[in-house]
Amino acid sequence: MKIKRVIPSGFCKGVVRAIDIALKAQKTYSDKKIYILGMIVHNRFITDALYQKGIISLDTTGKSKSELIASIDDGVIIFSAHGSDAKLIKQAKDQGLIAIDATCIDVIKTQDLIKDYLKKGYEVIYIGKEKHPEAEAVLSISEKIHLIKDLKDIKNLQLETEKIMVTNQTTMSIYETEALIKEILNKYPKALIEDEICSATSMRQRAILDLKDCDLLYIVGDPLSNNTEKLRAIGLEAGIKKVRKIQSAHDIQAIDLNDSLNIYVTAGASTPKYLIDQVFKSLECFKNNGYLLDEEIDVKEIL
Ligand code: SF4
Repeated sequence: MKIKRVIPSGFCKGVVRAIDIALKAQKTYSDKKIYILGMIVHNRFITDALYQKGIISLDTTGKSKSELIASIDDGVIIFSAHGSDAKLIKQAKDQGLIAIDATCIDVIKTQDLIKDYLKKGYEVIYIGKEKHPEAEAVLSISEKIHLIKDLKDIKNLQLETEKIMVTNQTTMSIYETEALIKEILNKYPKALIEDEICSATSMRQRAILDLKDCDLLYIVGDPLSNNTEKLRAIGLEAGIKKVRKIQSAHDIQAIDLNDSLNIYVTAGASTPKYLIDQVFKSLECFKNNGYLLDEEIDVKEIL
């Protein structure tokens, strides 16, 4: 049995930067409460680790983001790496909060590109995931941005102009996006295409497509992480026999390992190294001793 890591995998520059921003904010404003609107990046262990350091991630289920901001009297509020509605940042500032934007530079680049096309009078078709914070932030820019999730949405789309630009969420699957773009071009042949899958996402996906001998692929990541889910989709697309998405070493099933010769491990862009290392330790233990490790996850070790 061989156990190998897919390279590259794990943290991307946008995630490293966002976590760094949160930790630095805590040092700079040590006398204030520090909040994050939602999850700074999509990984619950990072949310827990930040909480242990006194940084509170506001739960966005059940309440609107505006309501959550309104519920804070004082302190610092950090807006996540996925990007945010500019009106929410303004609301926080108007309320007297210290607002810090941790939006990834690649997400800002896509938003700026969209704004440029809107200024030139284009309608924008945006391929993305419904209710994902990155897509929500983009859609908040203008009503002339139309979210496309699947082929059905393309069928239902009615645009009365030929000035159409097509772009996408940064963490989409390269295959899925290509297929949707093809369909959009069938309907709107003059549409301009701006592929905005970020390099971290496409490199992680292409690394899976390059695997020649893999019969079991583990993808470590959070269920909310879009780029992690797309790594799973790419693994299946690549024809890998067994593709397993896991949150931590605890989700490894011994039954999958018994007939697997070449095992690869990859991870979403928001998965901490600590969790990936635990997966390797457990797999190595199985290889050498025939049983999986059952180590506790110590969130203090994550950041
Ligand atoms: S996956 Fe891409 S867009 Fe998202 S945070 Fe990382 S570098 Fe930025």
